[in-house]
Amino acid sequence: MPEPLTDRLARLIADTGPIPIADYMAQANAHYYATRDPLGTAGDFITAPEISQMFGELIGAWLVDLWQRSGRPQEGHYVELGPGRGTLAADALLAARSAGLVPTIELVETSPTLRARQAERLPQAHWHDDIESLPNAGPLLLVANEFFDALPARQYLSSEQGWRERLVAFERGGFVPIAGPPIESTAVPAPFRSAPAGTIFESSPASIAIVERLSDRIGRQGGVLLVIDYGHLRTGPGDTLQAVRSHGYADPWTDPGNSDLTVHVDFEALAHASKLACYGPVEQGAWLRAIGIDLRADALSRKFPDRAAEIAAARDRLVQDDQMGSLFKVMALVAPGWAAPAGFA
Ligand code: SAH
Repeated sequence: MPEPLTDRLARLIADTGPIPIADYMAQANAHYYATRDPLGTAGDFITAPEISQMFGELIGAWLVDLWQRSGRPQEGHYVELGPGRGTLAADALLAARSAGLVPTIELVETSPTLRARQAERLPQAHWHDDIESLPNAGPLLLVANEFFDALPARQYLSSEQGWRERLVAFERGGFVPIAGPPIESTAVPAPFRSAPAGTIFESSPASIAIVERLSDRIGRQGGVLLVIDYGHLRTGPGDTLQAVRSHGYADPWTDPGNSDLTVHVDFEALAHASKLACYGPVEQGAWLRAIGIDLRADALSRKFPDRAAEIAAARDRLVQDDQMGSLFKVMALVAPGWAAPAGFA
């Protein structure tokens, strides 16, 4: 039996002192995703591609449209970051193939459990531990849905004595966030440096590094990075770390590795990390309507009349403001010389 994660983290903290929240989050999520398929009603949460095939089909059609209007360059590679069960990829690639685009399939996934699920849907895919091994010739058609929210984030806390990094300690048998030693205030963007004591500012260096690297690749190879996630349009303060388990909120400091830890994605920071043309972020509901979810829902309901109510409910769940429509945002980073992508006008 491997040592339980709680014991391993507690020992690490006893040996080396309190650890950054990013390290806690990285270890907790690595364990979490490696040991289960968290998606679906029997799991912990549901994502847009698992709600309806319309989501992946529309993304596939969107990629084909962009590729066609960009002059049909070499077909290149469909790349997905954190593809879960492979549902989005399977739906998107089916739509793409029927419109004449047949890219190779490259999946960036660390979880062996989810790789096995993806292989059932996409036996012809190639898997990557990280983005470095992605093909280095040909356009990259990259999609990341609910990927960046799972990447580790640091938290900084303002105090009377200046900014401190929030760290995780282990006290009286439990994990607790504490204020660590003072840090250089340059870790926090200038507009927020004089925020009142008690303000928390988050940043995800891992997410920023990935966007920087991918932007360089897209700049050289052509293509696009489509990011869909929950988060904020503009950089701002706030503690958004949350744990989800069995479709409800859980305590992020209890039983790490057995709930999904996320932070809201800072889209402005991601856009800033890229030198590419940036479209959006816009709200998911507006984007899906702009790229034709209502037409797609009508067509599907005509084809499967006995499923019309289910299709209408799925459409509502994806686009309504009080459901996923406004919390989730969509942003596209596009290679120089490529067309403007649909849905952002
Ligand atoms: N995109 C899917 C799944 C979202 S869950 C969907 O929309 O349904 C997050 C996904 O990211 C999982 O597949 C998880 O295993 C993967 N993941 C998390 N951290 C990762 C990392 N550091 N590198 C690669 N994949 C990661």
